[in-house]
Amino acid sequence: MRDETDILILGAGMTGLCAAHYAVELFGRDRILVVDAADAPGGTARTDRVDGFTIEWGPNGFLDKEPKTLEWMADLGLENELVRVNEAAAHRFILRGGRLHEVKPPPGFLVSPLLSVRGRARLLCEPLIPGRRDDAPESIWDFAARRIGREAADILVSPMVTGIFGGDAKQLSLEHCFPRMAELERTYGGLFKAMRALRKSGASAMGPSGTLTSLRDGIGGVAEAVQARLGDRMRFGVQVTGIAPLPDGGFRVDTAGSRMSPHPHPLPREEGITARNVIVALPAYGAAGCCAAFGSQLTAALEGIRYAGITVVSAGYRRDQVGHDLNGFGFLVPRTEGKRLLGCLWDSTLFPGRAPEEHVLLRAMYGGYSDPEAVGLSDGELLEYLRREVHPLLRISGDPELLRIYRHPRGIPQYLLGHEARLRAVEAAETRFPGLIFAGNAYRGIGLNDCVLSALRAVARLEPPG
Ligand SMILES: Cc1cc2nc3c(=O)[nH]c(=O)nc-3n(C[C@H](O)[C@H](O)[C@H](O)COP(=O)(O)OP(=O)(O)OC[C@H]3O[C@@H](n4cnc5c(N)ncnc54)[C@H](O)[C@@H]3O)c2cc1C
Repeated sequence: MRDETDILILGAGMTGLCAAHYAVELFGRDRILVVDAADAPGGTARTDRVDGFTIEWGPNGFLDKEPKTLEWMADLGLENELVRVNEAAAHRFILRGGRLHEVKPPPGFLVSPLLSVRGRARLLCEPLIPGRRDDAPESIWDFAARRIGREAADILVSPMVTGIFGGDAKQLSLEHCFPRMAELERTYGGLFKAMRALRKSGASAMGPSGTLTSLRDGIGGVAEAVQARLGDRMRFGVQVTGIAPLPDGGFRVDTAGSRMSPHPHPLPREEGITARNVIVALPAYGAAGCCAAFGSQLTAALEGIRYAGITVVSAGYRRDQVGHDLNGFGFLVPRTEGKRLLGCLWDSTLFPGRAPEEHVLLRAMYGGYSDPEAVGLSDGELLEYLRREVHPLLRISGDPELLRIYRHPRGIPQYLLGHEARLRAVEAAETRFPGLIFAGNAYRGIGLNDCVLSALRAVARLEPPG
């Protein structure tokens, strides 16, 4: 026997959870069902709490600039759990020439050795570079090199892009990764000019406005709050294997290895669910594997959305093991430094209570689009990299007291040049099959805020249940 529901949500990552929350608000709890292959909700946004350490699997928060995310937190009753990042996080570092240099805004930037004198001079010429007139796709690196010079593109921009997307700035589309940057150049003719104009008009400057925000006990608290509300409307250990349209409307969703946790009444094995609406909040490669029935164009578009693998190495130390003051956000590593390490976040500085008394928690990142083999490194190999690449920089003696490793083999989608055409193909399928909706970080933004907006878009497109 097949289960039936009005609204079926595939994937219980942040996108699926947010869509589920608002679908329940609109249509009632009994009309929705959420399924996920994992054993718990959250996708990459989960938190482990071990021996007094609060350890994030992936994201450590969201920028508080998106009112819809804050609204969702309030709707979940989490308003009082929100914590803003420590002021010390304003200090961000980049490794250059084997030393950590703080990234300072002007005038400090002018005397910082992070860029050569020539590199700094070239950056300051930015206002003289004319704005681009055509709309041809451009990579982030090409944009940065054109506006602020190749050295600044390599040393300042590329590591930042790796820090956010795990991506290669030379391959990622500016328009899809940093649409605001592209828009500022179009509107004001340059970045310095844009900054000046925005300051004059009282609007916020260009950077990623907002403050990094999390929950007191970790970002995984969001998934836990949704799970508490939805209860047995969420089923785990359910691998979606296929979706197909039904002749009279609605969809048939095939599943395998069904089990529901922690609630009883599992879905029947090897059967599935029929639904009037299906929100596909799976990663694009997961969606591609399920959507053959909707045509080869859709499958090709979904398969064309590539992913970067990321391995997160969380390490807890006694404070007295670490010589560095850790007064900052952490540091990023340009590829020109010849290290495997992408960067290291000083988690226990960012938010209070992430490590027990007299301890600190660090997170080192490996992998990224240009180092796909890194997700295959063993725990022992990663510990060795940590000893070799992080310990000397932060003057750490001895091994970590706590080591947790989270591998995300296809962790972060890459909006490569040509992303627009893939989005069009996905949207065409949505138009052709009303009630089939794609949501998640694969399409219009990878941040948690983008996932919330994607979820809200999905809910707005639902065919009202009969
Ligand atoms: C290391 C790392 C750090 C990050 N840091 C930040 C940050 O600081 N701030 C920020 O805003 N964003 C950050 N991000 C991005 C952010 O975490 C993600 O964009 C967001 O969590 C994605 O949510 P999602 O629901 O779209 O996808 P996912 O979290 O990937 O969820 C998809 C779900 O689908 C399920 N699934 C997959 N295939 C199937 C199938 N066939 N059948 C059933 N279920 C299936 C999976 O089990 C998973 O639960 C980070 C990401 C990573 C990996």
